[in-house]
Amino acid sequence: MPYFHDWVEAILSKMTHSYKPILCLSIIKNVSKTTTGSQTISKETISSDVARFYWEIHDNGFQIRHGPTKNIVDDLVQHAIRKTKLNKPNSRISWRQLSNTLKEPSTPGGTTYLEKIWKKLEDQPFNYMNIPQRTLILTTSGIEIPSDSVRTINSDRKILYDASILKLIDFLGKFNRSNSPNIAQKVRKAWKGGGRPSYPSWIVSALEFAHPKPRNCELQINGKCTVIATEWDHVIPWSHIGDHDIWNLMPICSRCNSDKSNKKPIMSYIRKTETRNSLLLNQLNTNPPKSISAAKLQDLKVQLQIANTSSLLRTNRQSMP
Ligand SMILES: [Zn+2]
Repeated sequence: MPYFHDWVEAILSKMTHSYKPILCLSIIKNVSKTTTGSQTISKETISSDVARFYWEIHDNGFQIRHGPTKNIVDDLVQHAIRKTKLNKPNSRISWRQLSNTLKEPSTPGGTTYLEKIWKKLEDQPFNYMNIPQRTLILTTSGIEIPSDSVRTINSDRKILYDASILKLIDFLGKFNRSNSPNIAQKVRKAWKGGGRPSYPSWIVSALEFAHPKPRNCELQINGKCTVIATEWDHVIPWSHIGDHDIWNLMPICSRCNSDKSNKKPIMSYIRKTETRNSLLLNQLNTNPPKSISAAKLQDLKVQLQIANTSSLLRTNRQSMP
């Protein structure tokens, strides 16, 4: 399997930027599952995929370090994000809005963001990837994947994807241990994109058990919200955690939820959530709801216990920008 070996080599060889495995992920994603001949992936598609990854990982202002050297691609994406936000300073921008900006010149009369990103990808990852031409060929319009290589990707798609994702997580983890929890979740989410999953039913059951209806809004901005809670708030914002953790969810009214958005939670709210977590753990130990299976119940108890002993809410809050 010489082609498979080339791919593994390309994915796992040494690197100083995060974009080599991202490039591999884009190629794997864009190789058609039905094509048997060679295939060319356009430079716009590749540059756009790479930009989208950085946008997703930075969504809601989370700053991530990409390695020991300056990351020009990320700088370009950040520049485009700021430019897109100029007309809407307080709202989140969508990928559609950002991708329109990326097609515009980054400076008046200059080349577009996507062209600049492609230039950087040509300069850097390709020099380090050490992939023989039979595996992929850099052309003026993009990357040509010869038919044998297309076949390799299609037969070993899962393992090539997993190897690339793990390499990316491992690399970003090295440079972000101090400023970001849950790197693995964030990377997986950023690469897959497409919004957040729904709340697991056992988590909702446990939360409803701890907060019977009618539920008070627990955020109490300015100390006096009397609106009934209809939503669950991620105390440490979703953008920073990337998951629905029971120890991080509190009842909130929709207005307080949108006011809070992705802001850093105040300490009194953290303390309130910690108290709730202790009470809930106690309830689950002494009088658990019958609607939750024994395995899920055990899982919830472990999560709450860990959150408690490791002060997860406080440490996450401290690591927020
Ligand atoms: Zn409220």
